Amino acid sequence: MRSTRGNERVTCSQAILRGLAPDGGLYVPEQFPEFTVEEIIGMSKMSYEERATEILSRFLPDFAREELQEAIHGAYGTGFDDPRIAPLTPIDANTFSLELWHGPTLAFKDMALQLLPYLLTMSAKKNGENREIFILVATSGDTGKAALEGFLDVPGTRCAVFYPQDGVSQAQRLQMVTTGGENTHVIAVRGNFDDAQSGVKKIFGSETFAKEMDAQGRVLSSANSINFGRLVPQIVYYFSAYADLLANGSIEPGEEINFSVPTGNFGDILAADYARRAGLPVGRLICASNSNNVLTDFINTGVYDILNRPFYKTCAPSMDILISSNLERLLFSLSGNDAEKTAELMHLLSSEKRYEIDMTMRTRLNALYACGYVDEARLKAEIGRQYRENHYLMDTHTAVASAVLNDYVHSSGDTRKNVIVSTASPYKFGPAVLSAIGEDVGDMDDFACCRKLSEVTGTREPDQIKRLPELPIRHTAVCERDKMPQALLDALKAR
Ligand SMILES: *Cc1c(COP(=O)(O)O)cnc(C)c1O
Repeated sequence: MRSTRGNERVTCSQAILRGLAPDGGLYVPEQFPEFTVEEIIGMSKMSYEERATEILSRFLPDFAREELQEAIHGAYGTGFDDPRIAPLTPIDANTFSLELWHGPTLAFKDMALQLLPYLLTMSAKKNGENREIFILVATSGDTGKAALEGFLDVPGTRCAVFYPQDGVSQAQRLQMVTTGGENTHVIAVRGNFDDAQSGVKKIFGSETFAKEMDAQGRVLSSANSINFGRLVPQIVYYFSAYADLLANGSIEPGEEINFSVPTGNFGDILAADYARRAGLPVGRLICASNSNNVLTDFINTGVYDILNRPFYKTCAPSMDILISSNLERLLFSLSGNDAEKTAELMHLLSSEKRYEIDMTMRTRLNALYACGYVDEARLKAEIGRQYRENHYLMDTHTAVASAVLNDYVHSSGDTRKNVIVSTASPYKFGPAVLSAIGEDVGDMDDFACCRKLSEVTGTREPDQIKRLPELPIRHTAVCERDKMPQALLDALKAR
């Protein structure tokens, strides 16, 4: 593997252990494995775990097949409420929903964060790292709980999450503060998400803190989507969706399909791009955004511009993002693996808040990617439409992908089969989904909304939500935004 901003080469276990390259770039594979149509046909008879083993062993050559197999079984063997792990549900004759929310925290982050702890601890062992791996996370909601659940009681690891005290939903907060385990810490910050995020970045940058951790036998690491170890498990479900379509006869071997992906940090859709580069027959990747539509503008004009761009808080909060970190990996490949060019664009982004790509890069971009965005009203109308017309209940993020796909199909006339990547359970956003299907929410809390959603639609309320109000609160720490390092040290001492 190599960095997007330099020439240093590392093994994939080193890349996973480090997260970010020392030159500030992101690690990318230098060569992609090539899966033939025959090999993909072979996957149609396999379980999700077997498919994952085939794909990961080719993307992660310094891991033995047996150790990957064991890790994959640890990640997906329990904790999912559907034995297919990432089931593909038909919505209409041409459209399918790839449901990535059957894991323990009801959002697609589980697909990667259930496996990452295994990849990280194996990488540590391979590189002679004996210290405890201490994962720090700042979260706006979904990532925090998925990381806590993934690292829960994994030997040799510890996980601490900072969340903005008033910036997460009731269900999201309770999911985090009721987390069990002996190696988890959850701390509320008196501030917003940016305060929590910049506090965590400061801790990562502090030499004093690193020395203190080293003295305690610990080393800090990161679980966010810049880590290649989070990206690679996501490649699997694109192959899996294709294999399922082959298995049920919806497509012929080699036939191209489109994916519509609700996008924030560009990790999920980039994994689809990597699947295509490894041989998956992909037609178009449809990059779907909410009102925070910086990526729509970029794909349409070749200009990425965050200067004076308003930030909207929407009911699809996991896509409320202006700087999509994984776009750097796309720029690197669009430039023909030009590290100098990529570094230049990323420096322009931090100094000018704006960059523009050249015609060659634009042509490559537009050959594969389509895009679009929808506002709040359209998003809610789409949840209502899909429920009325197809009896399919979707969450707010999935609805963005669904509406943008609908626009794309109408404007392009593309007749290929389409897969909507469904990233969260509708029960994670109960009040918004309930009102979108035309029910009165009044002053009901998240839990009352979820109960009513189940009654009205006849869909099953997940146990993780149902049980939440009864679980004991285990994490009560709160800190000022400039006291995060001390809060962390206190939390470690208390255990
Ligand atoms: C994280 C997230 C997204 C965005 O995924 P990216 O990889 O950041 O583009 C979309 N939907 C949900 C529910 C998420 O949690």
